[in-house]
Amino acid sequence: MIPYGRQAIDNADIEAVVQVLTSDFLTQGPRLEAFEKAISDYLSPAGSEAARIHTVATNSATSALHVACMALDVGPGDLVWTCANSFAASSNCALYCGAEVDFVDIDPLTLNISTAALAAKLSQARSQGRLPKVVIPVDFAGKPAPLAAIRALANEFGFSILEDASHAIGSQYQGQLVGSHGLADITVFSFHPVKIITTAEGGLAATHSAELARRMAMLRSHGITRDEADLVRHDVGGWYYEQLALGYNYRLTDLQAALGISQLLKIDGFIAARHALRTQYQARLEPLVKAGLIQLQALDEPGELSALHLYPIQVLPASGKSRRQVYDSLRGAGIGVNVHYIPIYLHPYYENLGFKPGLCPAAELYYNQAISLPMHPALTDAELAHVTDSLARELA
Ligand SMILES: *Cc1c(COP(=O)(O)O)cnc(C)c1O
Repeated sequence: MIPYGRQAIDNADIEAVVQVLTSDFLTQGPRLEAFEKAISDYLSPAGSEAARIHTVATNSATSALHVACMALDVGPGDLVWTCANSFAASSNCALYCGAEVDFVDIDPLTLNISTAALAAKLSQARSQGRLPKVVIPVDFAGKPAPLAAIRALANEFGFSILEDASHAIGSQYQGQLVGSHGLADITVFSFHPVKIITTAEGGLAATHSAELARRMAMLRSHGITRDEADLVRHDVGGWYYEQLALGYNYRLTDLQAALGISQLLKIDGFIAARHALRTQYQARLEPLVKAGLIQLQALDEPGELSALHLYPIQVLPASGKSRRQVYDSLRGAGIGVNVHYIPIYLHPYYENLGFKPGLCPAAELYYNQAISLPMHPALTDAELAHVTDSLARELA
């Protein structure tokens, strides 16, 4: 089966991990700090110490989203909004904090949160006194969410922005890397094996705010600190540490951090390989697009670069085929297609919270037509041709 996504691991990655195994620290050692510094160097504008991005690595993006919500003071009585077209973690993180969630519909071309839908929902929420504390836009498939417009709304309506950039390390928005432009309060990346770079499991929160970074770093390790500046009691002794908040064990191991450092060195090549694949897909799928049988996600705008985590297409009604038929037929041809995403609120858990179909019509329509074709750096030209030939045959 040709997978829809997978890691690209080479001998340098293997060597980096094996070296940690025979070192003094398997976790809480020097690699974690080096990994955080490497991502900070990658994101930070050159030459400006004041604009340096703070980075807090965790054992998953899910846990990074959780400590990010905690650091933004999300709690019972608060409302958090996210985009309907995402993985459940984008919304679960707020529920972990005891907050209520709600969902914003998508733009049918970018498949990202719709600025118009967000603005309309905010106006309505203001009249009801039910404004969100945090909005979580998602950079779907690597395409950056419209952060400039969301920042303008955040300033008007007074919410914080937690960008779920799980798909988008290496993506660029308005000419700057996602996580570095400062339009979001916190940006979270995922290093799950199908994402752009991997640490097996792993995530990271990036922020311009030293204070938010300090809180997240404490919360990922039990809420415990040894930092003299934060201690309540001073000069107790060399062994002394304090728990100041109810945190978690969300630490990334040194084995994983070493893999992450090695992977980050190759990120430009990974993204270039994904772009070469997209170029091929576009050429081969053009007849199907022209015939109105499928639709592709909007391409990069000027100043924008998608890291291309996913390659979603939509099977349109004119094809006479349902998404289910096309999905089954491609699977039958040995192609591990997938679907991203079931609108979060349609999961039974969320339906039990009171959500009903019809809340976000564009996200539901997209979901009913969506298929993610294989997209990862090791996908060969022959495999890609097999995917597009199989799709063309099914839709003929
Ligand atoms: C993968 C993903 C997550 C969760 O990432 P983990 O590292 O697996 O916890 C969260 N949000 C989105 C949009 C994702 O794709």
